[in-house]
Amino acid sequence: MKAVVLEQVEGQTQAEVKQFSAPAAELGNVLVDVEWSSLNYKDALAITGKGKIIRNFPMVPGIDFAGRVASSDDAAFSAGQEVVLTGWGVGENHWGGLAEQARVKSEWLVALPAGLTARKAMIVGTAGFTAMLCVMALEEAGVTPESGEVVVTGASGGVGSTAIALLHALGYQVVAVSGRESTHDYLRQLGASRILPRSEFAETRPLEKQVWAGAVDTVGGNVLAKLLAQMNYSGCVAACGLAGGFSLPTTVMPFILRNVRLQGVDSVSAPIERRVAAWERLAKLLPESFYETATTEISLEQAPKFADDIMNNAVQGRTLVKVK
Ligand code: NAP
Repeated sequence: MKAVVLEQVEGQTQAEVKQFSAPAAELGNVLVDVEWSSLNYKDALAITGKGKIIRNFPMVPGIDFAGRVASSDDAAFSAGQEVVLTGWGVGENHWGGLAEQARVKSEWLVALPAGLTARKAMIVGTAGFTAMLCVMALEEAGVTPESGEVVVTGASGGVGSTAIALLHALGYQVVAVSGRESTHDYLRQLGASRILPRSEFAETRPLEKQVWAGAVDTVGGNVLAKLLAQMNYSGCVAACGLAGGFSLPTTVMPFILRNVRLQGVDSVSAPIERRVAAWERLAKLLPESFYETATTEISLEQAPKFADDIMNNAVQGRTLVKVK
């Protein structure tokens, strides 16, 4: 099969697209013909070697994919069925989706819900799936469209873009925080009603004027600290990312004086029932225009170059990889 293969040469990660052996049977009970994959921030970290994502080489990266079942030892899946996979360590410690075939455990797969094609599922990808989990976390914390404005950081990235589109579709007033002025038209098209520069989030105090009913944070660091200081009484931040760093220079003040909730969101090990619910909602909520405006389509061969672009903050929206 053709695959992106990562190898470690003199301590450096090297990515090459080449013919590679088919995934071994012991890797899982379902073989999938991958049609589409995508590039997420974590893929960019893995492919460029800038993050310690992969420890065993050679490795096929790609933390998500969608395609058709080629063969299955589990009666829950049959040949020809369309499936999507995100997370579970695939593309990290288990051969991933940037390849013509993937072999995985049946319990990791979600059957594509009505309304989604394999291509659309990978425009959504891990990033969009995580955005849905963040929106669900805000809903579960009681944040409604009537509660007030919801802010999304790292707004022009994959998680941020999809979070804006989802929140807008649900009737929330969405404010985008972006480090790039070139993204403003795009963010308005997705549904942002206001856009704030990332530079305004560089410094904070333990408590600031209350501004936000809810927040989806993909950035971490000072940006997340400032969001916490600006949350309304009983507001909730769904925190899923570290694009700006993994530190969190905050105080207990927002929690003990304003009843603020900081809800962590993980997509990798999300239980299957939550995955199925999230994919069904994504299929229903995202408008057709999202798939057109939020996507750059590339080939398997272009994946290493686009991984560099993601690390240089030079990509907006989702990067879709056509595998077949
Ligand atoms: P992405 O497409 O690369 O987007 C990241 C965005 O963050 C960029 O578009 C940029 O937005 C902003 N950004 C980039 N560098 C920054 C910096 N140095 N400081 C502050 N902001 C910066 O990545 P993604 O796929 O959306 O993922 C976003 C984050 O969520 C990543 O940290 C990723 O690892 C994490 N994530 C977590 C999970 C989970 O399960 N918890 C799942 C998926 C993703 P602007 O240019 O608009 O500011």
